[in-house]
Amino acid sequence: MKLKLHWQILLAFIVGVLIAQLSKWLGFDYFVIHHLSIIGDIFLRALQMIIVPLIISSIISGITGIGSAENFGRLSAKTFAYYILTSLIAIITGLFIVNLIQPGTGAELTLQAAPEGIHGDLSRLKDTFINIIPTNPLAAMVKGEILPTIFFSLLFGFFITKAPDPYKEKLTNLFQGFFEVMMKLTHFIILFAPIGIFAIIAKIVVQTGMEIFIPLASYVGTIVLALAAHAIITLPIILYFVAGISPMAHFKAMTAALFTAFSTSSSSATLPLTISSVEENSGASNKVSSFVLPLGATINMDGTALYECVAAMFIAQVYGIDLSFGQQFIIVFTALLASIGAAGIPMAGFVMMAIILNAVGLPLEGLGLILPVDRPLDMLRTSVNVWSDSCGTVIIARSEGEKDLKVLRKNID
Ligand code: ASP
Repeated sequence: MKLKLHWQILLAFIVGVLIAQLSKWLGFDYFVIHHLSIIGDIFLRALQMIIVPLIISSIISGITGIGSAENFGRLSAKTFAYYILTSLIAIITGLFIVNLIQPGTGAELTLQAAPEGIHGDLSRLKDTFINIIPTNPLAAMVKGEILPTIFFSLLFGFFITKAPDPYKEKLTNLFQGFFEVMMKLTHFIILFAPIGIFAIIAKIVVQTGMEIFIPLASYVGTIVLALAAHAIITLPIILYFVAGISPMAHFKAMTAALFTAFSTSSSSATLPLTISSVEENSGASNKVSSFVLPLGATINMDGTALYECVAAMFIAQVYGIDLSFGQQFIIVFTALLASIGAAGIPMAGFVMMAIILNAVGLPLEGLGLILPVDRPLDMLRTSVNVWSDSCGTVIIARSEGEKDLKVLRKNID
């Protein structure tokens, strides 16, 4: 029987820890740090390799996949406002809780080499904003500059929907196909996660010993708490007070989709169920749901955004790197864009972590630390992603004056 990938990763993690301990007793720890670690480096490079094409294809296919462009305009303004507002609230919730709990403080992993300058003081912030608009989009893509790439992809996707046929149809199909290929490639690289994780973890444990596991458990707790706060407190408050919707009734309507999100770790795979639950159980119209949900599955990821921010802060804490206010601000901002750029597939959020670490100059190695616990966190953040998409749909449906919503507060209480 073939072991599921997340079990393989867990096993690789345990074997990595054992080998690290053994190497210290038997004296081959030099080999683990300097030679075995190459496998980990290769895995990290492969992850970085897919970021740019994955972002481009995921964003463009997400935007072009929503069908007729006549829905744009008012609906898209409301939708984007909802996406960005809720993602930002999620990130700030995460930032607050991770600063409160400080899961990584005290672990103080030592770095092999100091990261080349921690970037991101306030004076650089202005540049970060201006540089979102690329002077040359291809150059930005080639250099792996993520924010301008996301910006250009959003625009490009939008204007494909405005192009006349047959170009519109051709380009839509082209990018749909591009995205399919990138998903396959991502799955393929992730197959190597167990080997990569084994090498990365072995190196970390040789360098730091077993103490590293205490902060890791506290890291998981921090994310779970922050995700719960967003899903159980923030979004229901918006549902109840802004849209007059009963959070409990809407939650019940969405259970099948939420369980599917939890078990598949993929907003995209859950999409058909999300659409049918929102339409049939919550009573939103197809006009709104067919606009908000497909786009939301790739762009609106509150859970992922929150996770990116907490994970980056955790890695900084573990390496004993103090982040200034300006740097934390850059983390908030890049977490938002990374969540927009992440595809709705398993581990996409994890792949995106490399961007945030790069943006503030944190060590990529930190990824090795958080990968072993990524699967359960992925299941939870995907459920929060889908929950937020569904809340957005009923809120926007309500704001469009839809009469057939079944989850209105006044119908229920
Ligand atoms: N798996 C998540 C989703 O599909 C994305 C992520 O990895 O955070 O929504």
